[in-house]
Amino acid sequence: MYEDLNGKVAVVTGGSKGLGSAISERFGQEGMKIVINYNSDPVGAQKAADAVKDAGGEAVTVQANVSTEKGVQSLLDAALDNFGDLDVWVNNAGMEIKSPTAELSLDDWNKVTSIDQTGVFLGSRTALDYFLKKDKKGNIINMSSVHERIPWPTFASYAAAKGSVKLFTQTIAMEYAKQNIRVNAIGPGAINTPINAKKFADKEQYDATVNMVPMDRIGKPEEVASAAAWLASDQSSYVTGITLFVDGGMTLYPAFKDGRG
Ligand code: NAD
Repeated sequence: MYEDLNGKVAVVTGGSKGLGSAISERFGQEGMKIVINYNSDPVGAQKAADAVKDAGGEAVTVQANVSTEKGVQSLLDAALDNFGDLDVWVNNAGMEIKSPTAELSLDDWNKVTSIDQTGVFLGSRTALDYFLKKDKKGNIINMSSVHERIPWPTFASYAAAKGSVKLFTQTIAMEYAKQNIRVNAIGPGAINTPINAKKFADKEQYDATVNMVPMDRIGKPEEVASAAAWLASDQSSYVTGITLFVDGGMTLYPAFKDGRG
């Protein structure tokens, strides 16, 4: 638990399930007030809000598409209207589309990058603008992936967007460091969330994924949420511009794990 987080206000995008709802719940345990954004699943968002309240925090749910300026602005407005401030903005919403790149439609490319890349830009810009106007020591956390580093054939739009999130995070971290605004990314590996439900339901694909993880297991959403809480807290006060990989070692060239090579 991080005492400085108690009472702080956060926006968490894509909070109706998976990592976004786990981060919201963890922030609730820290006594935070949270705007839980959802795009199409009000029931999931309400469940996450109930979990936040049960954990001791406060929460409201807001429908918004993070790839639109209007949607993102409505999240800031909800934070100010309901809780009077903003301290932490988590750009978590994301999606992926599998396709051989030679067959990838422009429409599908735009779908992925408008959320995974443009959504991160719009959320960050909105938060930065507020922090600067209020002269606030603000905090932005962008959900990247191990695929900001590891190429992923048939998921080129996703890997391109996450690679962009890495340099975007580093760039704005440097740009606003003097104003005491910290910007970091989290790079999850293979985590048990709905985005992976179909893949992990197939035993062969599940085992193949575990085999890419030196720690020999799939990660839990709470393990990513712990990283978000630490990055949001003053315990990471001298940390900016990093990607904190939460991946059981997936980025450590696991092909070499048995001493091969
Ligand atoms: P998920 O599919 O369970 O949840 C994604 C969330 O984003 C959902 O709530 C969805 O409604 C929301 N979303 C999608 N489009 C949106 C839009 N236009 N506006 C607002 N919300 C929108 O996936 P997850 O595993 O929880 O992933 C969360 C983030 O973590 C994503 O950015 C993903 O790329 C990243 N990530 C996940 C893993 C993993 O293994 N689960 C690994 C690496 C990175």
